[in-house]
Amino acid sequence: MKVPFVDLKAQYNSIRREINEAVNSVIEAGSFILGKEAEEFEQRFASFCGAKYAVGVGNGTDALYFSLKAFGIGEGDEVITVPNTFIATTEAITMTGAKITFTDADGKTLNMSPQCLEDYLKKRFDKSSVKSPLPRAIIPVHLYGQPAEMDGICWVAQKYALRIIEDSAQAHGALYKGKRTGTLGDAAGFSFFPSKNLGAFGDAGAVVTNDRKAAEYIMMARNHGRKKKYEHEFEGRNSRLDSMQAAILKVKLISLEKWNESRRKHASLYKSLLDGIDEIRLPYSPQWITPVCHLYVIRTKEREKLAERLKEAGIETGIHYPIPLHLQPAYSYLGCRKGDYPVAENAAQEILSLPMYPEMSSEMVEYVCSEIKKII
Ligand SMILES: *Cc1c(COP(=O)(O)O)cnc(C)c1O
Repeated sequence: MKVPFVDLKAQYNSIRREINEAVNSVIEAGSFILGKEAEEFEQRFASFCGAKYAVGVGNGTDALYFSLKAFGIGEGDEVITVPNTFIATTEAITMTGAKITFTDADGKTLNMSPQCLEDYLKKRFDKSSVKSPLPRAIIPVHLYGQPAEMDGICWVAQKYALRIIEDSAQAHGALYKGKRTGTLGDAAGFSFFPSKNLGAFGDAGAVVTNDRKAAEYIMMARNHGRKKKYEHEFEGRNSRLDSMQAAILKVKLISLEKWNESRRKHASLYKSLLDGIDEIRLPYSPQWITPVCHLYVIRTKEREKLAERLKEAGIETGIHYPIPLHLQPAYSYLGCRKGDYPVAENAAQEILSLPMYPEMSSEMVEYVCSEIKKII
């Protein structure tokens, strides 16, 4: 049996007619940038999240960048995030002119540790001469589709007057104590990269927020700083949501809950079949969250062997992510060293993402698990 890591074609096949109609109608209307399709999608996505505003942009990286900018973060500021995330999180920080600081992940959830965050800030503000850049914001990442520990994070953020920008690129629809990601901080960046839980047929993203001023700023900033066609309040960027992508996202949003439910079903089958194997650590979810299982990430000291042998059995796997950001060549200038963030570093050695997408069958999950048991 072949088990791909994701199968975007299978999803397209399940909604082929609706997608084709949506794409055709955009072509017939001849309006390709923002417009009615984007506005409708923005409204529906905001209401899906339970937020007041969603602003469509070109991609998830820009969504994070605009979110920071909307709250005045830039040069002379410091923004804190975790080292075990995709580089887009930190690229967004650098794009604003702010400085990146890392704080380690929690060993159980692999999300931002409120304790590490507080320890860092305590030290940071204890120094007799507090030097700039000063921490102004944090970006917790809802990694693998699992909301970060927001109560603790919000508490620390409030104490130190920090803005919270959620990186929700992997967590469309996930719940933390009954609230959707995108409503747990000041603003949230979503990505609609094709393989995300809600994926376009190209690049796309959105900022979700309850802050009217932030939403208004981003609506201009994404579109050359303008409100009217040739009146520019400031220099913005070109980072708009294409009408075609918006039309596709509108169709896909209808099925998102069903797809997330499917992912959860596969995750619980993985869990029941892999439970009790000493060499494998399964993902941990606190009971007060509902994850959307963007990735199903196990941990094992035998990762290389396992990945290799699974590949031979026709099963694709991934590693998200093999090198923590503080050890990336791109960030050598930050002067971090091995051992600085041990939780993230240990995880990077052990994590393995198993196939996970809504359209996979239970038989596929069973096959993956039986092969794993053969190997270990
Ligand atoms: C995908 C992703 C992004 C960025 O999204 P793009 O749309 O590719 O720019 C940001 N953060 C995380 C954690 C992601 O997985």
